[in-house]
Amino acid sequence: MSIRDVLQAVQDRRDELAALTADLIRIPTVNPPGENYLDCAEFVGERLRRRGFDIAYVRAEGTPGDSDRYPRWNVVARKEGARPGPCVHFNSHIDVVEAGAGWTRDPFGGQIEDGKVYGRGACDMKGGLAASIIAAEAFIDLMPGFPGAIEISGTADEESGGYGGVAYLAGKGFFSKPRVDHVIIPEPLNKDCICLGHRGVWWAKIETKGRIAHGSMPFLGDCAVRHMGAVLNAFECELIPALAARRTAMPVIPPGARSSTLNINSIHGGQGEDYDGLPSPCVPDSARMVIDRRFLMEERIEDVKAEVVGILDRLAGERKDFSYAIEDLFEVQPTMTDREAPVVQAVAGGIREVMGREPSYVVSPGTYDQKHVDRIGRLKDCIAYGPGILDLAHQPDEYVGIDDMVDSARVMARALHELLEGGGKA
Ligand SMILES: [Zn+2]
Repeated sequence: MSIRDVLQAVQDRRDELAALTADLIRIPTVNPPGENYLDCAEFVGERLRRRGFDIAYVRAEGTPGDSDRYPRWNVVARKEGARPGPCVHFNSHIDVVEAGAGWTRDPFGGQIEDGKVYGRGACDMKGGLAASIIAAEAFIDLMPGFPGAIEISGTADEESGGYGGVAYLAGKGFFSKPRVDHVIIPEPLNKDCICLGHRGVWWAKIETKGRIAHGSMPFLGDCAVRHMGAVLNAFECELIPALAARRTAMPVIPPGARSSTLNINSIHGGQGEDYDGLPSPCVPDSARMVIDRRFLMEERIEDVKAEVVGILDRLAGERKDFSYAIEDLFEVQPTMTDREAPVVQAVAGGIREVMGREPSYVVSPGTYDQKHVDRIGRLKDCIAYGPGILDLAHQPDEYVGIDDMVDSARVMARALHELLEGGGKA
């Protein structure tokens, strides 16, 4: 048997791949709140158990959202090879976002039509999970003497940060050496594209403070919303243009995200809008803003934070009675796997062989579970590679092309062979 036979076997399992994707879509693992995780984990786990994998079901107890009603279940399947060697791990999240409005098909029906499988999660990312399962099964069937180990995981909560999924498992050693050497995350980034990593993130909450007074005599108080207006103005006139001018060497897609960015996530000040009749006449004594700052490999997080604090400190010098508080909410360092890394080389070789073209290398504007593999697992040899068009994710009438799944499954099988056997030729 050669790797060419394995690639043919994947091709021959086209209908099985489509049917598996449809079956996965029919388990509505909507997050939030995190429904049916155990059903989906067991569906994957029991299938792979019949193929000789050892199965672990891991509940991420105590993580955000975990409860007896909505337990955070994960499945990790491991197939040992015939002799020692490296371990290749395929990680897919099993949660999907809500269906939302605008569908012309049943979002949880798994309908197959015109070479596509439709449904919520078809591309993000049950199609990728199915492709990795078919790739691994075909490889094991035809090359049972392989060295090392193959792992496939289905994990919870990627859409809500991954704390009940990859982060939890990484904390338990599931994404570290010596257990695992190479990780492929089949997120939908197109079948000829290798995603090396993502930009950094810093979320923070800024509060400006004032002093309450009667609204008919605002000069007797101090308006926190006006102070926040000065912050907003400084962001608008100075910070946002400065960030837009900062360009990265990271190949972020879309190209608009090749700059540093700031989103004003929310702003609140004074009374809420849920009163009956009229609000009471008061000068607001607090205003809060949440910022979502995405930054580049070329920036250090300390500088990213200092830039914002510097603006606030300057306003404190310029404006009478300006005082503020700032609180970190969340941060993730940017990460980008080296193009020479083994997993990148193996998948690139697969794309060349299967599709006869050079891969493109991209970086994601937002984060995904690679952040936990990198930061908690301390494993650098990790990429995202999988079938499907990212723009269709989270949209109505989401679908994945069956030919695209077959092609990417063939690339995965080829990469498995290269990473486990240490050579592309067979
Ligand atoms: Zn996803």
